Amino acid sequence: MRPAMKPLKPLDEALRDLLLQAAPLQGQDTVTTFDADGRVLAQSCVSALQVPPQDNSSMDGYAVRCADVTAAGVVLPVSQRIAAGSAGDPLLPGTAARIFTGAPVPAGADAILMQEDCEVLAAAAAEDGLGSVRINAVPQAGQWIRSAGEDITRGAVVLSAGTRLTPAELGLAASIGQHQLQVARRPRVALFSTGDELVMPGEVPPEQMRPGAIYNSNRFFLRAMLLRLGCEVTDFGIVPDRREATIEALRAAGAEHDLILTSGGVSVGEEDHIKPAVESLGRLDLWQIAMKPGKPFAYGQIPREVGTAHFMGLPGNPVSSFLTFALLVRPFVLRLQGVTKVAPQSTAARADFTWPKADKRREFLRVRHNAAGGLDLFHNQSSGVLTSAAWGDGVVDNPAGQTIGPGDTVRFIAFSELLA
Ligand code: AMP
Ligand code: MG
Repeated sequence: MRPAMKPLKPLDEALRDLLLQAAPLQGQDTVTTFDADGRVLAQSCVSALQVPPQDNSSMDGYAVRCADVTAAGVVLPVSQRIAAGSAGDPLLPGTAARIFTGAPVPAGADAILMQEDCEVLAAAAAEDGLGSVRINAVPQAGQWIRSAGEDITRGAVVLSAGTRLTPAELGLAASIGQHQLQVARRPRVALFSTGDELVMPGEVPPEQMRPGAIYNSNRFFLRAMLLRLGCEVTDFGIVPDRREATIEALRAAGAEHDLILTSGGVSVGEEDHIKPAVESLGRLDLWQIAMKPGKPFAYGQIPREVGTAHFMGLPGNPVSSFLTFALLVRPFVLRLQGVTKVAPQSTAARADFTWPKADKRREFLRVRHNAAGGLDLFHNQSSGVLTSAAWGDGVVDNPAGQTIGPGDTVRFIAFSELLA
């Protein structure tokens, strides 16, 4: 009797179960703020000061009291000159202060006039070199003044733990005086490719490839994606399709890595040795996920002296490998670093194509934006056609059982959300 087919696991359920296993790694690094791009904050940054520290001018011009300029054309003596970096004195009533962008607004002044609205009267000739100025506009209280603390108040949590740092955040951390940051340590990932058909580019020129051989492409994008996610990658190369060799490779990798990532060999063919190898060392949950492409996917754990190593097995077909990485491994690896927001953002988009055949599985169709703002579909959606991933700028997340016609609103996930 054939065993009953296990129902495929919905992707959301698989992801939820995976994230439950992704306990944040022990250990932090202290890095300079310069070197923190892409790292994940392990401790929140709280501001010990307000930014900007004082009210300051957002223009080159003149600081005045509005009460002194009730009509255009008023002439005021210039009583001081305040450049960025200097403090200035309280503004004498009935005078203006020459002021530059970023300089503190002197006490008593309540507006800045930009210099384009002012006329300098004989400054050079004046004894003090300051002269006087004609104000050709009536100021409004507060104009061109950036108020103290308008960006950051003292005591504010500027960046919270679990934030993945991008360039803007490095600048923000620096703006509150942080020259170094506490970040999660990098996950150590062991990468394997399985398959006796695989040949490394550079080892054999294309014209000498033996029948049945193909180049190992998965190794290149998997490594690149892991590095982008802040991982330290040890590349164990190609593991032959033999049980003992696979067990040995996994055992060695498990001892020193947080995650072992493999591609290929997780289906249920006779040459698929990953499953029994992981089972002999630890525990394996072989999941058949209700997604297309990318059905075969495995998660497991391999115990070691202290703790366990995670195992994730991706399908061998390049597009399946690419998308299971993007949708399952990426959030997992981010969560190991303590990242709170791991879900990719999807947006509504207009399909400019037809997808006439609904599938039982949730599909991820490789698409690209066209100049009209809609989405075009790559003509070949086979899981072996990696050109679709290079051509596209993202995927349509198409629910099971759904056809698509021109003009339909679909969910789009940009590769920038999945690969960054
Ligand atoms: P498997 O999951 O091992 O059954 O492999 C499924 C398909 O993906 C086969 O056609 C393999 O030749 C292909 N494949 C497996 N690993 C790779 C790889 N690293 N690079 C390119 N193609 C691969
Ligand atoms: Mg294989």
